[in-house]
Amino acid sequence: MTALNETHAPGLRSWVPAANLPGSDFPIQNLPFGIFQTADGQPPRGGVAIGDQIFDLGHGASSGLFDAAAQQAALAACADSLNPLMALGQRAQSALRLALSRLLQEGSAQEAAARGCLVPMRAATLHMPVRISNYTDFFTSIYHATNSGRQARPDNPLFSNFKSIPTAYHGRASSIRLSGTPCVRPKGQTLPKGAKDPVFGASRKLDFEFEIGAYIGVGNALGDAIPLANADEHLFGLCLFNDWSARDIQSWETQPLGPFQGKNFLSSVSPWVVTLEALAPFRAPAPDRGADAPPLLPHLHTEADRAQGALDLRMDVLIQTEAMRRDGLAPHVITSPRFADQYWTTFQAIAHHTVNGCNLETGDLLGSGTVSGPRESELGCLKELTVDGTQPVRLPNGEQRAYLEDGDDVIFRARCEREGFATIGFGECTGRVVPAKN
Ligand code: MN
Repeated sequence: MTALNETHAPGLRSWVPAANLPGSDFPIQNLPFGIFQTADGQPPRGGVAIGDQIFDLGHGASSGLFDAAAQQAALAACADSLNPLMALGQRAQSALRLALSRLLQEGSAQEAAARGCLVPMRAATLHMPVRISNYTDFFTSIYHATNSGRQARPDNPLFSNFKSIPTAYHGRASSIRLSGTPCVRPKGQTLPKGAKDPVFGASRKLDFEFEIGAYIGVGNALGDAIPLANADEHLFGLCLFNDWSARDIQSWETQPLGPFQGKNFLSSVSPWVVTLEALAPFRAPAPDRGADAPPLLPHLHTEADRAQGALDLRMDVLIQTEAMRRDGLAPHVITSPRFADQYWTTFQAIAHHTVNGCNLETGDLLGSGTVSGPRESELGCLKELTVDGTQPVRLPNGEQRAYLEDGDDVIFRARCEREGFATIGFGECTGRVVPAKN
């Protein structure tokens, strides 16, 4: 279990002024990793977000700012993906975090040298942070499972296995792209309501799914399982994840083998990866499983996971339509889920994924599944928010959305807040819907 340490101290301030602003996602207590590039011809490389700046880890390593394990981690970050750093394990990552915290805080003796390693975010291009090996999408929200199940099976919305097993499907890694990648409306086969035969065309039920993505740091050997008690040692960090979904394609194709083309046309990740260590102050009890829940099987149960297996992220989905942009209207929050409401924890997902001997690899991405809570204001996709398009969401300018329309910008944000700790954020994961290709 990642412990609190001096890097989480709420009173820490950075000599980077923007890091201390109340609304900043990247105060000195966060220090998320990403891959960036500057216009000077240097290749993409690892950096850490601090306020409105990026600390260039390779520059820091060559400037003699780190020693021992921190230097090893900074050198590993001199690559075009975070995978070498992720594979090193948490001891080296934690040493680098501690060194960065001391370098970037007010009063640091090395401020002048560290200042030379900063790149303004506005002068950098962000790249995919991780070379994703494999992608698995879970189904961990009981509210999402019940709400979407009710639309298909009003009398029996929740599958009988839901409270016993964290179910998932294997997705596709090749079409996972960085935030900002346009979402081309997918085409496919659908069965229109009341029709006898399927038709082919552009999806009319394009949706987002606000999920939290979990990146695996150190993997496990084929044949070995990761016990729940050790699962946090294998989790490098979290990102915002949009599992764009074409509901009409999905509902026709999904039986019996599960999601395929309704999902694999694009998924989007945020550029910054917030480490599990940064999230230590925001651990929370796993939700109550309900009086009718079967006992948890041993591989899914530890006292520590029940006590602090959840992570308390407050998430927002914003929409800005083409008309809103034209009229200068700000993006509008349409829903605000909470990650701590997920029935299954991220650590249970890791333990379950490997219990049969399946090997997770450095850079694997596990999606949480749509994050939805008990209230109408906490539903993580339009299929739930609009009850499959029958109750459209109203926007402040009078527009309505049953599902996404061409030109819509979808913007995800998340922040972690807890009394007595500095608030940290994830930045954004965005994408604009563009028309289907001919
Ligand atoms: Mn999904």
